[in-house]
Amino acid sequence: MVKHSKEDALNEKEFEKLLQSIERIDCDWYRLQTRFVVLMSGRLGMRAGEIAHMDKEWVNYREGMIHIPKQDRCTKGKDGGPCGYCRSLAKSVVKHAVPTKYEAQLNLLEQGNLVHLGIVYQEILSTHKAFVDNLISKEEFDNRIEDALCLGKNNGYNNENEYNKLVNRAQKFIENRNVSLSEALGKYWIPKTDSSARDIPFDFDPRIEIVIEDFFNKVNRYPTSRTTVNRRVDDALEIAGKEKNECSPHGLRATAASYHAGRGLDVVALQSMFGWVQLDTAMKYVKNSGTNTQRALNSVHRK
Ligand SMILES: [Zn+2]
Repeated sequence: MVKHSKEDALNEKEFEKLLQSIERIDCDWYRLQTRFVVLMSGRLGMRAGEIAHMDKEWVNYREGMIHIPKQDRCTKGKDGGPCGYCRSLAKSVVKHAVPTKYEAQLNLLEQGNLVHLGIVYQEILSTHKAFVDNLISKEEFDNRIEDALCLGKNNGYNNENEYNKLVNRAQKFIENRNVSLSEALGKYWIPKTDSSARDIPFDFDPRIEIVIEDFFNKVNRYPTSRTTVNRRVDDALEIAGKEKNECSPHGLRATAASYHAGRGLDVVALQSMFGWVQLDTAMKYVKNSGTNTQRALNSVHRK
């Protein structure tokens, strides 16, 4: 028997057993909600945060597609505003959004700003790197920048003016990023990354179509918090006689990825379905899938 950890994928048989066990849940509504959560994560690979913010409007039955938007309004909080999950995301965005003046300048330099100043650029860049990495004092930083600007007197540019342009650009950059918490909160819900906004086909399995229809016949949006997604998965595990630490919404997402890779879905389609930033992640599932290799071998050698 394979020992699972929370992040691990279940194999097809284990997943089917999990689904079957859900049918033993007494309460109609919990049974439906649990079936919904387990299929959305374990077959469509949706993240817990996505499931918890799912809205009837995301579903297009005609196209057989779930559209995960770039942004949606979250009203799940007690006050009718964003839920705790969205709030903590918004807070962390505000915290990380604003770089220091020198980080912003370094960032612009690394993008190639001032590169036309040649050796002056090289010195300004390395001085910024050293200061941002906390290797030199502010005084040493100022001295080195002053020296650097005198370095290439004959390069055809007014080095000081050029450097001031960089400082101003960095200042603008910081102002634009300086979003207040309430502004940030107004934007939530937002999916994990830009590539998470995506279309997920669901009409390959009538069972999924049915559960989506049943669920959104009862409610217009997923009605409870992000943590209840975990709780529904825990319920399913418990009734299937498994330990809570044997799987999770994330483990079910991995279950979906392994399943589709095993059935021969190619890396590009896999990446777009799961909304991964890196193609490598999709590649990992395809590589680990023995069945996929077997299918490819068969098709190559079939006369
Ligand atoms: Zn929310």
